[in-house]
Amino acid sequence: MNKYDCMIIGGGPAGLSAALTLGRARRKVVLFDNGTNRNRVTQESHGFLTRDGIKPQEFKNIARKDIKSYPSISIMDQTVIEITKDDKSGLFLVYTSENNSYVSEKILLATGIQEEFALPQIRQYYGKSLFSCPYCDGWELRDKPLAILAENEEHISHMTKLVFNWSQDLIVFTNGHQLSEKVQNDFEHKKIKVYTDAIKDLHGDDGNLYSLELETGEDILRTGGFVVPSFYRPNKFAKQLNCQVDENGTIKTDGAGRTTAAGLYVAGETEKGGPSSLMIAAAEGFKAASSINMDITIDRF
Ligand SMILES: Cc1cc2nc3c(=O)[nH]c(=O)nc-3n(C[C@H](O)[C@H](O)[C@H](O)COP(=O)(O)OP(=O)(O)OC[C@H]3O[C@@H](n4cnc5c(N)ncnc54)[C@H](O)[C@@H]3O)c2cc1C
Repeated sequence: MNKYDCMIIGGGPAGLSAALTLGRARRKVVLFDNGTNRNRVTQESHGFLTRDGIKPQEFKNIARKDIKSYPSISIMDQTVIEITKDDKSGLFLVYTSENNSYVSEKILLATGIQEEFALPQIRQYYGKSLFSCPYCDGWELRDKPLAILAENEEHISHMTKLVFNWSQDLIVFTNGHQLSEKVQNDFEHKKIKVYTDAIKDLHGDDGNLYSLELETGEDILRTGGFVVPSFYRPNKFAKQLNCQVDENGTIKTDGAGRTTAAGLYVAGETEKGGPSSLMIAAAEGFKAASSINMDITIDRF
């Protein structure tokens, strides 16, 4: 079987940046991408230097075009379903949903994270009028009548204070959760209304939010807002390959992408199991790729 120097699982900014770096370092690499990058639901990406406002698919297309200049890199639009390690040879075996298998010396996990929402209706509006990152989408929602949708007091307090910088026309919806007197007073002081009633439904059209309907029957008009989802890793590869994880759920690394499992590296949001940005994920992909290249170099020199 054909052996690769490295297999990259994930074709978001972390994986693509690593592929570019390893291609330029003349490594034989295959990158797998099943098109579930987290920002696929959004219309425009912001804040990536030189690419402010780019569509997520265009961002990927440009990155893939850049990578094509380096013939030792292949990109496969396949889902990786299992990764095992042969302890004797130290090599990894990667299996895909198309019943193909591949052998590699190193693995880079750049599989990202996914969101989970307390209210499933949020998904219809997520990426168009409801967002989770004010740095990414706050500018587009500036000065608009916005909803802050979250359930945990710490999250509510943090997100509301942050978003207040972009719009002071805020209403907080806690979906049935109570807030402490201190937080209520802080919000009242800034003229931020709070509804602690459970939410019955969200109303809007084609992803554009119009209003939030409470169980009490009240319908509150809002044209967009920010939510605080829960995040999880969409697959179990890190666990199956025995990567150590710290008390916060972050995969332990040396700060340059090397995990505690020999030959296994991580980059991008999958490392922390929490949100970051395209720029940070791409930078971490570069960093992990440099570690992979250095380790292969030392092994073989
Ligand atoms: C609505 C929304 C708007 C956003 N807007 C911005 C913005 O404006 N600016 C900004 O900087 N950031 C933005 N972000 C955040 C940004 O999308 C993430 O920070 C970034 O995508 C993380 O990169 P990543 O490479 O770690 O993961 P991802 O981009 O999520 O990529 C993960 C990759 O892994 C692949 N994958 C996963 N499992 C498998 C498998 N088993 N087999 C094969 N492939 C697999 C996926 O297909 C995907 O290619 C936004 C996010 C959302 C949700």
